[in-house]
Amino acid sequence: METVLREKIKVGISACMYGCEVRYNKKGWSMLEYLGRGQSEFIWHPVCPECMAGLGVPREPIRISGGNGIDVWEGKARIKGRSGEDVTERVKHGAQVCMEMLKSAGVYVYIFMEGSPSCGVYRTTLKNKRIGKPPGVFGALLLKEGFFLIPAADLQSPVRWWDWKRRLNAFAWLRSVELRSKTDIYDMWHTIKFICQELDNEEAREIGKMLAKNDWEFSPDYAEDLRNSLLMLLRRPSSLPKIKHMLWKHYIFYKKKSGMDVDEIMRPEELRNMTHIASELMIMERKAAETGLMFGSAPIQYKGR
Ligand code: SF4
Repeated sequence: METVLREKIKVGISACMYGCEVRYNKKGWSMLEYLGRGQSEFIWHPVCPECMAGLGVPREPIRISGGNGIDVWEGKARIKGRSGEDVTERVKHGAQVCMEMLKSAGVYVYIFMEGSPSCGVYRTTLKNKRIGKPPGVFGALLLKEGFFLIPAADLQSPVRWWDWKRRLNAFAWLRSVELRSKTDIYDMWHTIKFICQELDNEEAREIGKMLAKNDWEFSPDYAEDLRNSLLMLLRRPSSLPKIKHMLWKHYIFYKKKSGMDVDEIMRPEELRNMTHIASELMIMERKAAETGLMFGSAPIQYKGR
């Protein structure tokens, strides 16, 4: 079972986070700059539902009146411009066009702008101020279609982005890996069990115990149920203490197997900044690739063709 990604993952992104000046006030930010050369591991699909609604730039800011984006689709809330103009049908149409575009291109990942009445997905707090009434109109469609959703602000944090990227790689791999036999299932589990244990130890141990009993029959339905549960698990962010703990654990494993020290790797309790932790994680990824030893925290790497 190959554990590398050969195809670039296609990622949808709010166009204003891709550097396009498409916000109502003609602003836009290039969040991809934070990723440096890492940008080239993905194919980017910027979309702007409000532009596709024909609202133009600049435009009046819009707001949802009487609920959130889900309520809009259920006909219980309306979308209005500052002057009171009702743009509900146009914004819904723009969101549908963007969704069709992403789906027809095979995109199932989206980086969203927090707080937007269109692209927002979860409640976020910026500068101690809660913003928006998530999900937005397009955000509601993204949730309904089961997209892997990443808040754009997390691209600024090297550790958070590392966490999103390694889970996304595992997610993309798991989505397409063949599960046609018990052996396939055991191989798959062996590959991603460490990352699953880090994300939810209790759930992962239950799955591990159940598979270890070996008293179950293979069926395609069983395989798909297991795949879907693990895909849900991989959507959940980790935390800094867990990431540091697993980094140290894998380093000890590496040291024992290879007999080599890596000076940069620090104990979980040692203080250092986020940039240092991100560089330790990347060093361990590289060392694992060089020696063929698995780095269970980031088991799937993009290698290209
Ligand atoms: S609709 Fe989405 S992409 Fe367009 S400006 Fe608003 S947040 Fe950005």
